[in-house]
Amino acid sequence: MAETVTHEPPLLPQNVTRIEADEVFTFACHPGVSCFTECCRELELALTPYDCLRLKQATGLTSSELLDRYVIQEQDSGETFPRFYLTMVDDGRASCVFVGPQGCTIYPNRPAACRTYPMGRAASRLSDGGIDIFHVLIREAHCLGFAEQQEHTATSYDQDQGLEHYNRFNDALTAILQHEQVRQGRQFSPEEIELFTLSLYDLDRFRDKLLAGELSTPGPRKDHHSEHDPKEHTDLPPDDEALLFWGMNWLQSRLFKG
Ligand code: SF4
Ligand code: SF4
Repeated sequence: MAETVTHEPPLLPQNVTRIEADEVFTFACHPGVSCFTECCRELELALTPYDCLRLKQATGLTSSELLDRYVIQEQDSGETFPRFYLTMVDDGRASCVFVGPQGCTIYPNRPAACRTYPMGRAASRLSDGGIDIFHVLIREAHCLGFAEQQEHTATSYDQDQGLEHYNRFNDALTAILQHEQVRQGRQFSPEEIELFTLSLYDLDRFRDKLLAGELSTPGPRKDHHSEHDPKEHTDLPPDDEALLFWGMNWLQSRLFKG
């Protein structure tokens, strides 16, 4: 189960097929399928910044507590930015920390990859600033939902799973992850990587530091995704979602000066 955000469409494994937005497939997932919650175990569940925002809401934790308790941060040598994964439980099946006997215990706030599965969605940023999207279907042996007869398309499945709101945040993030300088191999200092983690994944601490005047605000770029373009700390967006969009613009201006 994974949401990929890539530049070029990757070479696909045999059980992964690309589907058009209006292509019909049959699938259903419900407590009656014998594989119920099988996909919530032994997985690498990558978390986007917006996933963490929603997990923060689901758990009532601060962003720092969430990162400490439930999130693994990794950055292999040669990788431009760190990756963030949800912790799995050491129960012999590497179960997701949020799976229970009745299913997902944080269902309304489950991450985008959980909503997307058994599809995958890739967003590629174009040179004119537009986004090219493609979907794949992932047919894993343990997933018996494909035997069900409910019809979907990629577009309708996205809508059914409430993905459109998640996709707004994840697509906006490509302005950083797929920036031209990143595509050309730009590497960042440890301090810049800290700002990446802080402004995207640790929103409460980010807000606190801005309010304390510990971070400069070098005139974030106005962005159509955000209604806020604060120039002063006192104008910080009042809620986490607006702050996340604001933080993306702020980070972009910090990482890609000139
Ligand atoms: S967050 Fe919920 S849906 Fe996603 S893997 Fe964990 S239990 Fe399953
Ligand atoms: S394995 Fe497939 S059908 Fe089974 S619970 Fe997961 S998504 Fe649903």
